[in-house]
Amino acid sequence: MANSISGLSYVPNTPSSPWQVYLQQVDRVTPHLGHLARWVETLKRCKRVLAVDIPINRDDGTVAHFEGFRAQHNLSRGPGKGGVRFHPDVTIDEVMALSAWMTVKNAAVNLPYGGAKGGIRVDPRQLTRGELERLTRRYTSEIGLIIGPDKDIPAPDVNTNDQIMAWMMDTYSMNVGATATGVVTGKPIALGGSLGRREATGRGVYITARETARSLGFDIAGSRVVVQGFGNVGGIAARLFKAAGATVVGLQDVSGAVANDAGIDVDAALEHVASGGTLRDFKGVTPVSESEFWQIKSDIFVPAALENQLTETRASHIATRLVVEGANGPTTPAADDILHERGIVVVPDVIANAGGVTVSYFEWVQDFSSFFWTETEINDRLERILVEALKAVVHTAEKHKVSLRTAAFIIACTRVLAAREQRGLYP
Ligand code: NAD
Repeated sequence: MANSISGLSYVPNTPSSPWQVYLQQVDRVTPHLGHLARWVETLKRCKRVLAVDIPINRDDGTVAHFEGFRAQHNLSRGPGKGGVRFHPDVTIDEVMALSAWMTVKNAAVNLPYGGAKGGIRVDPRQLTRGELERLTRRYTSEIGLIIGPDKDIPAPDVNTNDQIMAWMMDTYSMNVGATATGVVTGKPIALGGSLGRREATGRGVYITARETARSLGFDIAGSRVVVQGFGNVGGIAARLFKAAGATVVGLQDVSGAVANDAGIDVDAALEHVASGGTLRDFKGVTPVSESEFWQIKSDIFVPAALENQLTETRASHIATRLVVEGANGPTTPAADDILHERGIVVVPDVIANAGGVTVSYFEWVQDFSSFFWTETEINDRLERILVEALKAVVHTAEKHKVSLRTAAFIIACTRVLAAREQRGLYP
């Protein structure tokens, strides 16, 4: 549970707090950084964190206040890039960790960005559409001091979507007096959004799973897949796995977990959820308990909901061969070790879910040149970047005899710290 100090929500530094998990991951990579290890403290702090008060008029005439944050972890390689999350559990600690993982992710895939992340501590389901718009616009205005097309470019994350990005783009544009399409990515196509962006993260999960499965000696076709989280990332990934011939045998969303050993009709489930339903009330599936869900037999398990889901206990019982992290930070370091001992391969978040930020990068480039690419061009480029990045990670893992996560961190942290060293310290 989050506590409150001086009005700001934070999580005490427990070993499982996302920021502490990230720090442990940095400790694991440090011995592999050679002379660049002298700069490692750079990675252990955020360059800048802005906390803002967001007052809005409620529809009932009252005024409500919300806490919002924007963290810029590292800008050595380019402007900040990272999503905005609307969730009741958002804390400074979480936003800082998510911004740091963006630094690592952007460098692991070699995008010319630093890492950033934002969020508002709110349950958006409790707001009307008008209230949500006012909240988004006031938040954008408050963080307008530090965002911009060449400073820091937000994008969608949990509970935010293309409509929220449209309001953010409009608010920022009104404040600077010019239409600035490049200030956010994940926008509607009509406002400079990119084809393929909505599907990009789920597609990246699918691509990295397919490549890793191949190297482990099995195909997606005929494999059994379980997905936790049935939103943008999990929903699209599940659809692509099914389309490639996999049987999706378990799904979970905020309403609970469901299973069907013969396979879930993913497209029908997506339609059901899009029209306001939940997985628990979807026909053709059996509701299962939390612990049953984590023990469904599968070849591929995709955590695509929130962080800290794959705990030690769950890692001891999970019955799968390959974990592909759609969510950011879903596996604790202790669980990582258990999975490693059990011979279960983990494709880490910083590669597995990098498809979203990669197509966000394409969107930003297209906005700057006002020249838009076809969906085939986008998907082909995404495929090439992710396959090459994954190959480099696998090669580094073999060379250093480390997990894929530590290998991705070695590649990314080396790039970030080399940039830090080449730029030198100001003044
Ligand atoms: P989303 O809001 O579209 O979907 C989240 C899903 O998780 C929903 O189905 C929700 O019901 C479910 N969920 C929430 N709490 C849960 C719980 N306690 N147990 C089980 N399910 C739960 O969000 P999204 O964009 O799909 O993001 C999911 C994860 O992927 C997050 O960790 C996010 O940071 C990460 N991610 C998203 C993107 C992107 O482009 N959207 C990119 C990279 C990483």
